[in-house]
Amino acid sequence: MTEVLFALNFDITTSEEQFAQAGWRGPWVCPPGTPPVCPECRRTNEKLGVPMEIAWDPGVGNIGDFTWMWNNTEALVTERAATSLARHFDDFEFAPIVFRRRGNPFMRRTRMMTYNGDPLPDGFRLMHLKIKHLVSCDLAQSSLTLTNRCDTCKREGYDLEGVENWVGRKPGKGIFVPREAARGFRAFRVRQYCGPQLVTELVRKVIEDEGLTNVVFVEYGEFC
Ligand SMILES: [Zn+2]
Repeated sequence: MTEVLFALNFDITTSEEQFAQAGWRGPWVCPPGTPPVCPECRRTNEKLGVPMEIAWDPGVGNIGDFTWMWNNTEALVTERAATSLARHFDDFEFAPIVFRRRGNPFMRRTRMMTYNGDPLPDGFRLMHLKIKHLVSCDLAQSSLTLTNRCDTCKREGYDLEGVENWVGRKPGKGIFVPREAARGFRAFRVRQYCGPQLVTELVRKVIEDEGLTNVVFVEYGEFC
């Protein structure tokens, strides 16, 4: 039986006018003894530190249960969303964040502020949604094409064909993940193409049943 994998994304039909978006502002940390960028391929070696620092994008509106950042590959969630996900699944972690005013690194705030400087309601908290698991997909079945490989840092880049954001995938295309590689996980990222946050039908059902806002599910692949 086919079991579809979905990528989480923001709701393009309502998001632009209704829900705030944010961007991360650091801090970036580099493992000791590693240059900030690979001298050959120029990929960054820096990773995002904790707590992540966030600034709202201009024109902030309502705060959805999901707030999207960084090309829609990372999300903040409300306490309501975190509680729902944690009650049903062991695949997510929720990391602390700090809000700061855009453009002024010296104006760091420990209290969450909107872009216009208004405080958010008391007791309202957002957390960085993190998926615990990284699994390998089946490259033979997946419609991933190797585009580059670096001899120095050994990293590889892949293009994904036949899948479009907010549209889904063409028949037979997408990311195929062996069930044994997923080991029963309900949410994970794929090592070869780690942007999408992939979830199973069960996660979709919980999020939809709970009525969480500003998140949609785009068909990206399946278990194989
Ligand atoms: Zn490299």
